[in-house]
Amino acid sequence: MSERAAPFHCPYCGDEDLRPNEQGHGAWECAACSRAFQLKFLGLLSRGLRRQDSGGDEI
Ligand SMILES: [Zn+2]
Repeated sequence: MSERAAPFHCPYCGDEDLRPNEQGHGAWECAACSRAFQLKFLGLLSRGLRRQDSGGDEI
């Protein structure tokens, strides 16, 4: 199973004109600013994300 993370916006200029880069997995290039970047999955957080504003969900 090869799940790809697709960015919706360029992290540099915010444009949505992204296309896969030939570098390989997770590599994208932005047609607006001509930047190429790579997304990398680092792993799951051990404790997950917790919203500070919700409060009350103590385990
Ligand atoms: Zn861009």
